[in-house]
Amino acid sequence: MASELEPEVQAIDRSLLECSAEEIAGKWLQATDLTREVYQHLAHYVPKIYCRGPNPFPQKEDMLAQHVLLGPMEWYLCGEDPAFGFPKLEQANKPSHLCGRVFKVGEPTYSCRDCAVDPTCVLCMECFLGSIHRDHRYRMTTSGGGGFCDCGDTEAWKEGPYCQKHELNTSEIEEEEDPLVHLSEDVIARTYNIFAIMFRYAVEILTWEKESELPADLEMVEKSDTYYCMLFNDEVHTYEQVIYTLQKAVNCTQKEAIGFATTVDRDGRRSVRYGDFQYCEQAKSVIVRNTSRQTKPLKVQVMHSSIVAHQNFGLKLLSWLGSIIGYSDGLRRILCQVGLQEGPDGENSSLVDRLMLSDSKLWKGARSVYHQLFMSSLLMDLKYKKLFAVRFAKNYQQLQRDFMEDDHERAVSVTALSVQFFTAPTLARMLITEENLMSIIIKTFMDHLRHRDAQGRFQFERYTALQAFKFRRVQSLILDLKYVLISKPTEWSDELRQKFLEGFDAFLELLKCMQGMDPITRQVGQHIEMEPEWEAAFTLQMKLTHVISMMQDWCASDEKVLIEAYKKCLAVLMQCHGGYTDGEQPITLSICGHSVETIRYCVSQEKVSIHLPVSRLLAGLHVLLSKSEVAYKFPELLPLSELSPPMLIEHPLRCLVLCAQVHAGMWRRNGFSLVNQIYYYHNVKCRREMFDKDVVMLQTGVSMMDPNHFLMIMLSRFELYQIFSTPDYGKRFSSEITHKDVVQQNNTLIEEMLYLIIMLVGERFSPGVGQVNATDEIKREIIHQLSIKPMAHSELVKSLPEDENKETGMESVIEAVAHFKKPGLTGRGMYELKPECAKEFNLYFYHFSRAEQSKAEEAQRKLKRQNREDAALPPPVLPPFCPLFASLVNILQSDVMLCIMGTILQWAVEHNGYAWSESMLQRVLHLIGMALQEEKQHLENVTEEHVVTFTFTQKISKPGEAPKNSPSILAMLETLQNAPYLEVHKDMIRWILKTFNAVKKMRESSPTSPVAETEGTIMEESSRDKDKAERKRKAEIARLRREKIMAQMSEMQRHFIDENKELFQQTLELDASTSAVLDNSPVASDMTLTALGPAQTQVPEQRQFVTCILCQEEQEVKVESRAMVLAAFVQRSTVLSKNRSKFIQDPEKYDPLFMHPDLSCGTHTSSCGHIMHAHCWQRYFDSVQAKEQRRQQRLRLHTSYDVENGEFLCPLCECLSNTVIPLLLPPRNIFNKLNFSDQPNLTQWIRTISQQIKALQFLRKEESTPNNASTKNSENVDELQLPEGFRPDFRPKNPYSESIKEMLTTFGTATYKVGLKVHPNEEDPRVPIMCWGSCAYTIQSIERILSDEDKPLFGPLPCRLDDCLRSLTRFAAAHWTVASVSVVQGHFCKLFASLVPNDSHEELPCILDIDMFHLLVGLVLAFPALQCQDFSGISLCTGDLHIFHLVTMAHIIQILLTSCTEENGMDQENPTCEEESAVLALYKTLHQYTGSALKEIPSGWHLWRSVRAGIMPFLKCSALFFHYLNGVPSPPDIQVPGTSHFEHLCNYLSLPNNLICLFQENSEIMNSLIESWCRNSEVKRYLEGERDAIRYPRESNKLINLPEDYSSLINQASNFSCPKSGGDKSRAPTLCLVCGSLLCSQSYCCQTELEGEDVGACTAHTYSCGSGVGIFLRVRECQVLFLAGKTKGCFYSPPYLDDYGETDQGLRRGNPLHLCKERFKKIQKLWHQHSVTEEIGHAQEANQTLVGIDWQHL
Ligand SMILES: [Zn+2]
Ligand SMILES: [Zn+2]
Ligand SMILES: [Zn+2]
Ligand SMILES: [Zn+2]
Ligand SMILES: [Zn+2]
Ligand SMILES: [Zn+2]
Ligand SMILES: [Zn+2]
Repeated sequence: MASELEPEVQAIDRSLLECSAEEIAGKWLQATDLTREVYQHLAHYVPKIYCRGPNPFPQKEDMLAQHVLLGPMEWYLCGEDPAFGFPKLEQANKPSHLCGRVFKVGEPTYSCRDCAVDPTCVLCMECFLGSIHRDHRYRMTTSGGGGFCDCGDTEAWKEGPYCQKHELNTSEIEEEEDPLVHLSEDVIARTYNIFAIMFRYAVEILTWEKESELPADLEMVEKSDTYYCMLFNDEVHTYEQVIYTLQKAVNCTQKEAIGFATTVDRDGRRSVRYGDFQYCEQAKSVIVRNTSRQTKPLKVQVMHSSIVAHQNFGLKLLSWLGSIIGYSDGLRRILCQVGLQEGPDGENSSLVDRLMLSDSKLWKGARSVYHQLFMSSLLMDLKYKKLFAVRFAKNYQQLQRDFMEDDHERAVSVTALSVQFFTAPTLARMLITEENLMSIIIKTFMDHLRHRDAQGRFQFERYTALQAFKFRRVQSLILDLKYVLISKPTEWSDELRQKFLEGFDAFLELLKCMQGMDPITRQVGQHIEMEPEWEAAFTLQMKLTHVISMMQDWCASDEKVLIEAYKKCLAVLMQCHGGYTDGEQPITLSICGHSVETIRYCVSQEKVSIHLPVSRLLAGLHVLLSKSEVAYKFPELLPLSELSPPMLIEHPLRCLVLCAQVHAGMWRRNGFSLVNQIYYYHNVKCRREMFDKDVVMLQTGVSMMDPNHFLMIMLSRFELYQIFSTPDYGKRFSSEITHKDVVQQNNTLIEEMLYLIIMLVGERFSPGVGQVNATDEIKREIIHQLSIKPMAHSELVKSLPEDENKETGMESVIEAVAHFKKPGLTGRGMYELKPECAKEFNLYFYHFSRAEQSKAEEAQRKLKRQNREDAALPPPVLPPFCPLFASLVNILQSDVMLCIMGTILQWAVEHNGYAWSESMLQRVLHLIGMALQEEKQHLENVTEEHVVTFTFTQKISKPGEAPKNSPSILAMLETLQNAPYLEVHKDMIRWILKTFNAVKKMRESSPTSPVAETEGTIMEESSRDKDKAERKRKAEIARLRREKIMAQMSEMQRHFIDENKELFQQTLELDASTSAVLDNSPVASDMTLTALGPAQTQVPEQRQFVTCILCQEEQEVKVESRAMVLAAFVQRSTVLSKNRSKFIQDPEKYDPLFMHPDLSCGTHTSSCGHIMHAHCWQRYFDSVQAKEQRRQQRLRLHTSYDVENGEFLCPLCECLSNTVIPLLLPPRNIFNKLNFSDQPNLTQWIRTISQQIKALQFLRKEESTPNNASTKNSENVDELQLPEGFRPDFRPKNPYSESIKEMLTTFGTATYKVGLKVHPNEEDPRVPIMCWGSCAYTIQSIERILSDEDKPLFGPLPCRLDDCLRSLTRFAAAHWTVASVSVVQGHFCKLFASLVPNDSHEELPCILDIDMFHLLVGLVLAFPALQCQDFSGISLCTGDLHIFHLVTMAHIIQILLTSCTEENGMDQENPTCEEESAVLALYKTLHQYTGSALKEIPSGWHLWRSVRAGIMPFLKCSALFFHYLNGVPSPPDIQVPGTSHFEHLCNYLSLPNNLICLFQENSEIMNSLIESWCRNSEVKRYLEGERDAIRYPRESNKLINLPEDYSSLINQASNFSCPKSGGDKSRAPTLCLVCGSLLCSQSYCCQTELEGEDVGACTAHTYSCGSGVGIFLRVRECQVLFLAGKTKGCFYSPPYLDDYGETDQGLRRGNPLHLCKERFKKIQKLWHQHSVTEEIGHAQEANQTLVGIDWQHL
């Protein structure tokens, strides 16, 4: 590009060319002070090579640099010609077993979900394809640039660390061998010398900060006054701002400015002006002035050209070093040594340190060059990687500080290299123990978050934009911490323990700053004024979630560490909440004779915080302890004695109460920020280290407390203590307090509290809490997700918490709990819960949101009803608790709990007022169910010596325990069983009573059987209920049956509509338009039907009535009545094109009369089939237009349709349309005159027509020479013998009504305008041609679709297609009536002359270059214009027949001339049939006429077969054409699928079965015609192989073949570089599915101008490839793109699915993708049907955001 802008090439300094590398190197070898020598050389030559003008000439510069600068170094290094030296080094080298390929942007990378140690381990494509992971569950992504292939790194892979290629190298590797042994002493010494000098030079010059002065040893003697104005990249200004500013500042064109901006963005800097200091300074000040208004100004420097020159060479040098060390690992090692060698200034003075520490000052291009050098040197050498890692860790704080100040993205910062060391387990551990890395990272992090409140907690409240920006940057430190922790140690050394715990201390300090941050107070009275900041705190929590989990994992792997960490964590928690704070006075609570002391604290009145990471970490560690061996064997060793359970539970409980109160509506005035926080607290992204751990903490606390005490404290925190501690409070409550809101609030709080108790007892699926393993936990999650509804894989993944192996973890259990259902043509594959898993369903599963809970409840009840089970959803059987938590179950049978249960049941029995709710009761029932299950399990597992202490059944049988003098819980349940208002819960109560009896029986049979007290009552009760129950059972059965029948019926109905969607649609359409005259009805079933000619089957006149969809008025279609129209859409099309490189160059001059057989640009018409009055439509369209104008003025919004171009949506079905077609009766019947004479045969007819044409041409000539008309005219008229009955002056009267005529013009003009893309002009002579062409093209395209799908020609066609073809054909046939007769006659004459030559038409296309079907349609439809002036008695039908026969014969000749000439010896000996000998004879004639140029084919069988196959499409199209033209019903035979129907078609078309007979019958004239066709020079050229021609039958176009495996597409695209900006990788490679071109889409570089507007590569491509319509695959996004015109587009689901039957738009999940052929066929069908534009329209109507996208820039 640069060379385009600056064509002058400067002459090359001769002295440069005369340099000899060998000589210079020789001089250097002798030198005493090599450094000085080399520097002098550089000082002299570098400015002579680089930066000689405004624009760089990279090729010239590189060439000269190699010759003058690098060449000598290579000579010096090798000590001989490097052409020999380097290969020698290469041979001696033992290559590394590491791949280390550095990824470019967009390059595919692969990871193995089964074997990668962590997700950062990736392979390059080549290694992946040669590895075992190919057949594993891999994941692919596209690289964002940076990073390298981990092939060969044994630490990165659990299995298969080497690919085939790198495996080879491993055998030769001896451990830790010094690569220098392969080099000679000399080479080592020289390499060392030259590397040291050059590396130092590069570092020095790149980090040089002065703008016009060079380092002393590089300063030149004479210095020119040439400067560059250098523009630097920043992340603040947009492309547009930069482009705009540049145009102003340096007076360049927009194109140049774009070029500058693109380079600045890519390389980080670009000179925008070259000249003397003043000149550059001026540009600088303009740029700075223009960009400093809102933000900080763009960075601009005026630099002396020699500095820029040296810097450019410095970069070149680094790349050179990178490539030189590729020759030998020994050279690499020397470079590493040189780089890390400490300089004279001690600490941090090595070259590597210097580069790293100036990273943030360097521009992008320089950074990426040196980062790449580091990657290919230091990171490839295991010894130096370690040393480098140490340097990196030592500089870590400084580097991070620099990064905070730097405004570039992290990808171009040296800090991003952390992933390379920190994820390598041994390195990470080494850095932890030796460099205390964990502590350093965490402390650095803390240093950057300085804002604290009075208690030392983080405070994000008043963050400025800059602080927020830094906060975002600082998060990358958490990422580093994550890397360090990614792999747990398998072995612990004492040092590691010590350093880890030090790091843990630092981490606790961090968490301490979060404990209690962002506290909130309930807002009463007014709504809060400003939503408080909450996101920052949650972002921090979210980012840390993973780290917290990993910290716990580390602790879990070593008991000593775990116990130490536990103690530390506890100590910090004590610090946070040591003792009771001031003002929180103790109070005493008592219920049922139990009492406890607690503090006075109200969540609703005092401060409360959601952030409690220290408590939660302790909870996590406690669970781990519980799981550990110590807990089982020596629990006394655990540091549990220091725990104060009330202190532990206090804060988590407050947090849970807060959630309950928010739910109860008590915190409404605190606004959305609180709602959001509560949402995230429970959300899958946070819950693991928030909500879940709070539940665990409560479980921990309760397991160490008297459950009665706990329950009282809980009641108090829920502010419900009064209600349950005061007898009969409920009654008083509902009678005294009339405030309904408060009552409801309390109801909700009670519900929430019961829910919490259910969770505390029921949630035992975390390993350590219950006796389960990780698989059980995830299984349970999946079961509950699938209880809501069947889900796709990705949905399930989203609903599970993230951890490194979550997907493989999920996959290992999913088979056990779910069935997979494959997807259909649309939709996704779904997992469905196995029925046997339903019994594990827990309605109160703690991860359900409220909405999910009610959905799941509904789904599960429905399932039960379907299985005819009772609808109770009892609690599932639970696994036992771990010993530390075992006492938790006692909550269920504690006195206070029984009191709460009793109270609520009592309320339910009394059922007065609204102070209780069904949910409350449901929860109590669930709790009772849990208790029964628990007791049952205890009894089942009881051993001889133990007594089951869980005696819930006994306790609930005793009356009067709880509310004084109340009946027993059991008795109340029995009462409630019959309560009419509790219908829904009856099943559950029945289940409880049944289980109660079962448990009781067990207890009786067990050794320690308690006395059965209440059995009698139960028995009694049940017998009393017996007949009542019987009656109920019957009623229930009847109800179920009714329900089932209803369900079946609605199911059937739904099913029917689903399955018959198409049919349903059609019937709707049928209803809407009665136009569907069933002409397939057997009008004349017995006789042979003939579609044309004098023998045409006469069809009785059919009256046609249609209804307007707009006014609902019915009207008959008649010649003289008002026009009825169909909404239609006309578009250009290349769907059938056989030559995509051809398109209309100059539409104003283009002559469409003859369609080339390559069908390169057609006009297609489609319609939705909806009928309107012409005037109704016009009114509708006017209103659309007016509305649109108003809308555009108001808001600059677009619509999915372009009103200015005549587009509108069908008022009924919203189908995109741009014109209307009038409905007509068969037009031939109107013009056909009676047959009153014998009809001429073909020969006679051709003669007559030729005479008429001659006469017309003569008259035409007369008219065009009017000057001496008066004198000569009379003579000439005498001269002209007018054929008999021909009256050229006759002008027929147009039979159509004004309104129909108007519509004929409207549609004709629209076709002309769209088809040629010109301005509408109804007078243009090409209008009728375009109408005929569109008719022919549309028929051809429909014939193709039917053939491709093997459908019969006249099978049931969708109504809309049938209507469209009929109207289109009839319209085309009637259009001549509104055109000029002489124009149409002129077209006819010319078309006719192409087959029957006459003198006045020359230069007509030869018959090889004419599409015969288009010719046929044109001739037939133009003929009436001639025939109307013929009164000799030749009928229209006769003409049609002869035209058809003539064209058919021409087509046969066309086929024979182009028939495949390969010899096919089959069947030669068979007795030849009549057709075969006839065709052979004809072929011989042709052979003769072509002067033997035609190859001889002796096989008539072969020829006849080619003719039959070649002519079929033409015959089918003709049959459709005449069928719609004349309205003759189609023969029933052709309506069914089956064989080719050749004979039936011939009969219908009035052709002999032996087509060759046509020639024989008309040999008189045909011989001369054939001769004239063959004489054409083009035919000769073709036969001599000088040109090509289309062969028949033409094959259908298909979309390109796509590979089965999507990764091969990505690979292909990653190798694709932008064709315009020399070798740059394209950012959005996009594949045209029509022709297979790869394009560089959505990018400035490949924009081109189209019709005066800049458009992207895709839009530009659609204009040549698809005449405006395009189908693309965006490879990196895995997304299909539809484009139409400049403004329309949509994305479409790609035809690639993963193993779970899902697409992956955006390649976010990265599962292997495979081609789904059916879906791809569907896309192809859309294309074949010309429905792409329509599809876009529907997509845009459905999703308005699609309208706003700048599609033309893609
Ligand atoms: Zn590789
Ligand atoms: Zn490899
Ligand atoms: Zn693998
Ligand atoms: Zn109407
Ligand atoms: Zn419609
Ligand atoms: Zn294409
Ligand atoms: Zn490009």
